[in-house]
Amino acid sequence: MADNSDMADLLFKDITLTPEDYEERYPKRNVKDGAVVTRFAPSPTGFLHFGGLFAGFIGKTAAAASDGIFYLRIEDTDKKREVENGAELIIEGLKEYGIEFDEGVVSSTEDKGDYAPYTQSKRTEIYQAYVKRLVEEGRAYPCFMTEEEIAEVRKKQEEEKLLPGIYGKYAKYSGITADEAKRLIGEGKEYVIRLKSPGVPGGRIKFKDLIKGEIEMDENILDVVLLKKDGTPTYHFAHAVDDHLMRTTHVIRGDEWLSSVPIHLQLFRVCGFKPVKYAHISPIMKTENGGKRKLSKRKDPEMAMSFYNEAGYPVGAVWEYLMTLANSNYEEWRACNKTAPITDFKFTFAKMNKAGALFDMVKLNDISKNYISLLSAEEVFDLAAQWAKTYDEELYSLLAQDEEYAISIFAIDRGGKKPRKDIAKWSDVKDYIEYFYTELWDGKRDFAQTLSNADKTQILEAYKKVYSEDTTAEEWFPQIKEMAVELGYASSPKEYKASPDSFKGHTGDVAGVIRAAITGRQNTPDLYEIMQVLGAEETIKRIDEAIKILK
Ligand code: GLU
Repeated sequence: MADNSDMADLLFKDITLTPEDYEERYPKRNVKDGAVVTRFAPSPTGFLHFGGLFAGFIGKTAAAASDGIFYLRIEDTDKKREVENGAELIIEGLKEYGIEFDEGVVSSTEDKGDYAPYTQSKRTEIYQAYVKRLVEEGRAYPCFMTEEEIAEVRKKQEEEKLLPGIYGKYAKYSGITADEAKRLIGEGKEYVIRLKSPGVPGGRIKFKDLIKGEIEMDENILDVVLLKKDGTPTYHFAHAVDDHLMRTTHVIRGDEWLSSVPIHLQLFRVCGFKPVKYAHISPIMKTENGGKRKLSKRKDPEMAMSFYNEAGYPVGAVWEYLMTLANSNYEEWRACNKTAPITDFKFTFAKMNKAGALFDMVKLNDISKNYISLLSAEEVFDLAAQWAKTYDEELYSLLAQDEEYAISIFAIDRGGKKPRKDIAKWSDVKDYIEYFYTELWDGKRDFAQTLSNADKTQILEAYKKVYSEDTTAEEWFPQIKEMAVELGYASSPKEYKASPDSFKGHTGDVAGVIRAAITGRQNTPDLYEIMQVLGAEETIKRIDEAIKILK
């Protein structure tokens, strides 16, 4: 092994701790065999998008399923991308969707866990200790090439159709001596530290990606930058050191990083680290004009988490949907395990879509409707009110003014074998409950056009006579039927169809007139229950109003 201690001391005179010191400070984790230790590692851009949430969800799920650890690391090596409170905004955004961490950054001033600090800008000395060792071993060197020189090299390589970058004969400083470096530094020249890549042209590497399967790629031959001019690391190098020292077992990230794996695996090797397992997630796709394209931050509102917040999708429903996107066999499992907690499902990387899961708004809504249909009336009330508090003041005050009344509305047609699925998101609630609140309802009646106004009035007048608040649910429909028959309607659609000229319509038409009179609508949940919630006074008042309108 080369001994370049002179060079190492020249470049890193203030770095006194060694890789061994850090190995000791951040020991192997005490987790059971097979535990997934993984991380979510955003840049502090403040912007959490659906793809980020999906990656976070996968990390959280994989760790939880194996009694592992899921931690949050903030990757702020690129200061240009940083926004104020960026980390906090992302942490908040994830938390809103139930993604919390076992350890990592908690806020810009606080960490939780034994592998702190979890923010890359607070770990500069650690990276430098490792680079110092690489320099000592002759595996890294200071490179004084100027931007102009690099641009010139690149131009030449382009002309000759060669791989662009600093490597082999283009690596002007790869053989630099400590004396020369000292002289250049004395002249005030700036430098970066580059890896002296052990890769050879034509060399290939193979690795198994947990999602994409066996992958073979060109080995890295570039003398990539490890430390920038200001001594801070590049993402590539920081990732290797951090994932090693934080004892990460699985790196789960977007597949835009797939092409960097040859660099990363080489860095693990030269540093003597055990390689991590990689799972590269394909971007979420969307169909458009018969084709497919990536969901885009710029074009698709559903890419921003604010879209889901404003619409008011319950977290549980979003999780259901995320799992559907994650594992193709989830829906089938759910169909057989309707009420089991989502964490009972056995998530696997192998079942993730290699080509990118397809985002489907209709499906999200269906899943969410189903999810909400299985909640109790109290849960629906709590979640809807919580959402309304931020997004719809009017709705919030109506719900809050009489909690019991609101819960009795949500209880209609709930809890049975076939609950109704009218609400996909909390922003649907206002429309759903509209006719229960005079403050919301405009009183318009949308009657079906099959009967004349005189017939409708006759039905309503007759119903007023038989209506009683004490009628039971069992008695109610037979009562309507009896009344219908007396008024000249067929008792069932079947009977009506057999001899349409003998009747004005059938019981369903009669009930429809009463429904529209009371709710304004042709389609509602159970009308009997609606009337019970409204009470006798309001029910009669509405029938009278409807009669007036029909005159
Ligand atoms: N900091 C990287 C990003 O912002 C994350 C890559 C990784 O997870 O390794 O995309």
